[in-house]
Amino acid sequence: MTDTLVLGAGMVGVSTALALQESGHQVTLLDHKAPGRETSYGNAGFIQTEAVEPYPFPRSLREILSVVFKRGNDVDWRMRDIGHLAWPLWRYFSQSAPAPYARTVAAYSKLVLRASDDHARFIVPAGADDLIVRQGWRAVYRTPEKFEAAAIRAERLKLDYGVPSDVLGADELALREPGLRRRLAGAVHWTSPWTCLNPGELVARYASLFVKRGGTLVSADAMSLQQHGSGWRVQSAEGTMTAQNAVVCLGPWSPALLKRFGYRVPMVFKRGYHRHFAGKDGPQISTLDIENSTVIAPMNRGWRVLTGAHMAPPGTAPATRQILRSVEAAHELFSLGEPIEDTPWSGYRPCMPDMLPVVGPGRHKGLWFHFGHGHQGFTLGPTTALLLAEQMNGVGTNPLALPLLPLARDWALGHAKA
Ligand SMILES: Cc1cc2nc3c(=O)[nH]c(=O)nc-3n(C[C@H](O)[C@H](O)[C@H](O)COP(=O)(O)OP(=O)(O)OC[C@H]3O[C@@H](n4cnc5c(N)ncnc54)[C@H](O)[C@@H]3O)c2cc1C
Repeated sequence: MTDTLVLGAGMVGVSTALALQESGHQVTLLDHKAPGRETSYGNAGFIQTEAVEPYPFPRSLREILSVVFKRGNDVDWRMRDIGHLAWPLWRYFSQSAPAPYARTVAAYSKLVLRASDDHARFIVPAGADDLIVRQGWRAVYRTPEKFEAAAIRAERLKLDYGVPSDVLGADELALREPGLRRRLAGAVHWTSPWTCLNPGELVARYASLFVKRGGTLVSADAMSLQQHGSGWRVQSAEGTMTAQNAVVCLGPWSPALLKRFGYRVPMVFKRGYHRHFAGKDGPQISTLDIENSTVIAPMNRGWRVLTGAHMAPPGTAPATRQILRSVEAAHELFSLGEPIEDTPWSGYRPCMPDMLPVVGPGRHKGLWFHFGHGHQGFTLGPTTALLLAEQMNGVGTNPLALPLLPLARDWALGHAKA
């Protein structure tokens, strides 16, 4: 019998497997696909040590109306989905009020600030240094008002959290980005984050490290999870696997599995889209065009152009509005050439209403939760994995432990069921 089954081999699951293995667990990691082929493949690859303040739900009437009437490219939604969206979005709105948001930021900032150190302990032994660029990323601004506000915020984050940045005026930005096709107002260069040239490959290399260190990786359907005596079992391609613990790391698929065990997880699914381009003249470093909610990330496959959030429950048809606008905005800034894929990729950011990942025990004995990393799961996978491993081993203190957040996490606490 293995000690622990880890369900899901995205950045979060693979990091969990490595962290538990390092702390002495015998771990079986399972997925129905190869490691790192879903959300952890399609993201922008930022290891975001500047993201100390997660995205709150808009609170001002002006911002809310902008979302409702889809004035910007940051958010998209469909009236037909409103029945699925209303309850989690209401909780997201409530948790974004000043007091709960300040509690979230206090916990979140501590996690984010250590994220690259936690990746470093896996990057080097996984032989993945060639995938990592340590030059930060730039947010560029088209209008002076937005640029000035961004420069003030960057100064605040420097003072409050020690997040380093360089503020670049229009001339300096043009010098640093010779491929820019138009003059912009300026940029904030966040200098401490790392970026990854192939996010899915980084996860695959972490998974290879786990196997090299003696871990077991199997193909299995996590939906076959059942309680078995005092532990858990799943059906895998190699037969029935049993364990004392099961850790749910299924990212956006976690609520579907947990529904079977009586948990109603209020996840907010923020779908994102990307498409690669083959040209030669993209940005020198990853670039966010804030006013169009568009990232242009240099990747091994080409220039990856990514969108903001489409609020959509899983299973809905992909929409085109945001990716079309993002591609247009990216071409306004750089000469990116032709698309590589026939159709855009899409995946779901698994967001929780309190903007904090769920890291801790469920109500069932031996069932652990590790999902809901939202916009920063690629960044935070190793960090929250190390915290979860400490908690499972009864050492350290997990700042995200469920009992500390009873109002936000009532769905997980409830009454002991098994
Ligand atoms: C457009 C976009 C841009 C983003 N940019 C960034 C960024 O720059 N930086 C950052 O930190 N984060 C970013 N994110 C967020 C980040 O990608 C996610 O938070 C993170 O990948 C979630 O990782 P995960 O391991 O929880 O989920 P996933 O990577 O989705 O892993 C879940 C795994 O579960 C498996 N699975 C599902 N169902 C089953 C089943 N029935 N049986 C077996 N296995 C199953 C899947 O195959 C998958 O491997 C971005 C997201 C998007 C969509």
